[in-house]
Amino acid sequence: MPHRVEQLHRAGLKATGPRLMILEAIGNHLHHPTVEDIYTSLIHDHPSLSRSTVYETLDVFIRNGLCRRVTGAGDRMRVDGTPQDHDHAVCQSCGDIFDIDRQVFPLPSPPAQLPNGLQVKGLRLEYEVICSACREPAEG
Ligand SMILES: [Zn+2]
Ligand SMILES: [Zn+2]
Repeated sequence: MPHRVEQLHRAGLKATGPRLMILEAIGNHLHHPTVEDIYTSLIHDHPSLSRSTVYETLDVFIRNGLCRRVTGAGDRMRVDGTPQDHDHAVCQSCGDIFDIDRQVFPLPSPPAQLPNGLQVKGLRLEYEVICSACREPAEG
């Protein structure tokens, strides 16, 4: 995974084994995974991995901009390894998170300044949706 090593170095982090496998898991296998999702996907091949290692590694990644924290339905932390700027649509029924491409659905432009001298650095939009799976009538 040479480009994962480079990705860690660019973020100013040492490329340790757990960091590499967790970065790989976020980037390749899962979409907006929870700590539990990542742990479950890795534990079979890496039985010595602990949940707290996953949690701490994600915390480091988030602080160094390698992935971003997603607030979705429920209390569980989820992370997003998609580097491109995008917004999220969160299903109010099942809590699934969908990526919304800003090229297709652009953001409204934010004001440059908010009250109390707050300088606007960015804007993030979260759509509240009902996904197509939840819209279908329940079977039975
Ligand atoms: Zn849904
Ligand atoms: Zn996303």
